[in-house]
Amino acid sequence: MSTGVNGLEQIPDWLLPLWEDLRGRDARLPHALLFCGPEGSGKRLFAEHLAHALLCQAPDAQGFACGQCPDCTWIASGNHPDFFTLVPAADEVSSEEGDENTETAKKEKAKSTQIVIDQVRSLQASLEVGAVGHAGGRRLVIIDPAEAMNAAAANALLKALEEPNGNTVYLLLSNAPRRLLPTIRSRCQVLDFPRPGLEQAANWMKRQGISNPALLGFASGLPLAARTYANGVLADARKNFANDLTNLTTKDPLKLAAEWEARLKAKGAQEAGFVLPTLINWLQRWLSDGARVAEGRAPRFFADYAAELGKQSQGHGEAWLAAYRDIESHRRMANHPLNQRLFLEELLLTVFRRIAVR
Ligand SMILES: [Zn+2]
Repeated sequence: MSTGVNGLEQIPDWLLPLWEDLRGRDARLPHALLFCGPEGSGKRLFAEHLAHALLCQAPDAQGFACGQCPDCTWIASGNHPDFFTLVPAADEVSSEEGDENTETAKKEKAKSTQIVIDQVRSLQASLEVGAVGHAGGRRLVIIDPAEAMNAAAANALLKALEEPNGNTVYLLLSNAPRRLLPTIRSRCQVLDFPRPGLEQAANWMKRQGISNPALLGFASGLPLAARTYANGVLADARKNFANDLTNLTTKDPLKLAAEWEARLKAKGAQEAGFVLPTLINWLQRWLSDGARVAEGRAPRFFADYAAELGKQSQGHGEAWLAAYRDIESHRRMANHPLNQRLFLEELLLTVFRRIAVR
C-alpha cells in the first residue's frame, strides 16, 4: 500500500473526477457534505484527504495537502486543533483487554456502536472557542458513519447545521443515508461515491499486488473492500470458511459450530469485522453461488471455488436454494442472538440437513 502525504495512501483513480470537482469549488464549498456509498467505496480516505487539503496552507497543483506546512505537521501528529473526527467509541481504540467477559464491559461495547450526544456537545464546545479556526482558516469535522448518531446526537448536530458557522465544514459519511434524519440530509449537499469500471478495478487490484481477482466479486465490485479480504484476519476467515464448506460431508455440525464460535471470539476478529452476521452473509453467498453453478452459471462471490462448488451442488440446485431460504430467518436474528453457540448449532444443522447429503 503506497502511503503519501500525511500518512494517507493516494485516493484511487476513479475518485479523481469527484476530487477535481470539489477542489475546483473551493470557496464555494457548501458547509455540509454528505458522502454516500457502501463500505469500501473510499469515503473515509477521500474525506481525510479533503479535510487535510482544506486545512493545508499550500496545497499542490491537484489540490492535495502539501505535507510540509505547519498545519500538515499538526495533522500528521494527530493534534490539529481545527480538525475533529466523530466516530462511535467502539471504532476509536480497541477495548481494554482482560475485562472482556465482565457484564459492564459487554454493556459498554453494546452502547459504543453509536455516536452519542456527549460527543456532539463536546465538539460544539470546542468549536465555540473562538469564532474561527486558530489561524483564521477553516475547521473540519468528519462524522463516520453519520447514521451511527443516535436521535439525541443527530438533533444536536442538526442545530449546528441550521446555523452554519462560516468557517466550519462538516463531512458526513454514510453507508445507509436513508437511516439519517431527513432534516439532516436536506441540510447537506449529497454526493454519491462512484464505483470503478471492471477494468479500472482490476488494474487497481494488480497495482496493489492482489493476486486473487475473485475477491472483487466477493466485495461486490469494490476494490478497497476486496483488499480487506486479501490479507489478514478476513482473508484467513474466508479461507477457513470455504475450506469448511468444501469439506462439509466430513464434518460434524456441532463440532463445526464450536470451531466457528471460537473463530468469532478470536483476537482481532471483531475489530476486522468478522462477526456473526458476516458468517451468515458468507453462508448465503456460498449457497446462492452453489445454486447458480448447479444451473450452469458462474459463481458471483466465490469464483475462486467454482470447481468445488460444482462438485457439491451438481444436481442439487433445489436443495441449495432451499437452504438459502431456510437461513433467511437466521440472518434477521444474527445481530442479537441469545446464545451464539446454540444459534450456530441450529444454523449448521439446518444447512447440513439440506446440502451435506451423499
Ligand atoms: Zn500543507
